[in-house]
Amino acid sequence: MESEFDVVILGSGPAGLQAAVHAARAKAKTAVLGKMRSSALYRAHVENYCCLLDTVSGESILNEGRQQAERFGAALIDEDVLHIERREDERFGVTLESGDTLLVRSVILAMGVSRNRLNVAGEKELLGRGVSYCVDCDANFFRNQVVTVVGSGSAAASGALRMLLVASETHLVCESLEISEKLRYQLESSRAQVHAGRKVTRIVGEGAVRAVLLDNGEEIETSGVFVELGAKGAIELVTALGVALDSESMRFVAVDKKQATNVPGLFAAGDICGPPWQIAKAVGEGCVAGLEAAARARRASGRQE
Ligand SMILES: Cc1cc2nc3c(=O)[nH]c(=O)nc-3n(C[C@H](O)[C@H](O)[C@H](O)COP(=O)(O)OP(=O)(O)OC[C@H]3O[C@@H](n4cnc5c(N)ncnc54)[C@H](O)[C@@H]3O)c2cc1C
Repeated sequence: MESEFDVVILGSGPAGLQAAVHAARAKAKTAVLGKMRSSALYRAHVENYCCLLDTVSGESILNEGRQQAERFGAALIDEDVLHIERREDERFGVTLESGDTLLVRSVILAMGVSRNRLNVAGEKELLGRGVSYCVDCDANFFRNQVVTVVGSGSAAASGALRMLLVASETHLVCESLEISEKLRYQLESSRAQVHAGRKVTRIVGEGAVRAVLLDNGEEIETSGVFVELGAKGAIELVTALGVALDSESMRFVAVDKKQATNVPGLFAAGDICGPPWQIAKAVGEGCVAGLEAAARARRASGRQE
């Protein structure tokens, strides 16, 4: 089955839902694709998003965001996209899991990122019980506690430096430090305890993290483990369209100030455009992408601005 839309948004996390609200309110026929449970926000407990006084569950933010997008007329389709192609008439053909195809004038990529895992025992079981993939998001839950950051890149090193501001003690476990001289100097002159040339082989604890075990047999007593091994965007879907990636890491979609990619009609917002991994950034970018995508669809269809 084929259906036509002005704007289709790939991803129903905060970036996609905010884009849907703005595109639908701008009178674009809009659909949002993707599964709520796959959003990074689904398992989060949020206390640093503007105007929320109490800690709010990510699930309830997403539920309300979905209702809001529907209220403004966006269609919610709980399916992943399998394929996107650009057609001769300059529209995009978006193929869903069900085999249905959507014909679209503007597409917004808001598929988020998947965090690289450590893949050690205890990591999955203790996720959300001391294991986190985001210093920016969860640092405050470890105030005055001992934490361990794992990773060799600048995200891990700067994460460890940020943790020093809240934690009572910060360890950094890294195989080899691949960071700038400036960051290395900051780290070496800080209170962070660096375990260089070491790997975490196990995260220990029952119900909550108690320690990490290193490959030399050493055990570090810790309440929090921040896995900062980087992330990858779901960009494989669009590389065939020639979407440019950011020149620094080559892992995120490059966009301009209108959230437009280098491919006409293709916009991107949220984590897929790179860090910081924060709702505030995702919804800001989603707002801009939604408005721009709707305006582009209007122009492409010859309708009045
Ligand atoms: C444990 C945890 C705690 C966090 N805590 C906070 C916090 O306290 N404060 C804060 O600001 N941020 C927090 N974050 C970060 C925040 O959740 C993300 O920055 C935010 O969710 C990014 O929004 P997004 O819409 O870009 O991507 P996501 O929310 O990850 O949504 C991506 C969407 O894309 C969909 N998708 C993926 N592939 C496809 C496909 N092929 N087709 C269609 N759809 C697809 C998914 O189903 C999902 O709906 C936390 C993250 C984690 C993991």
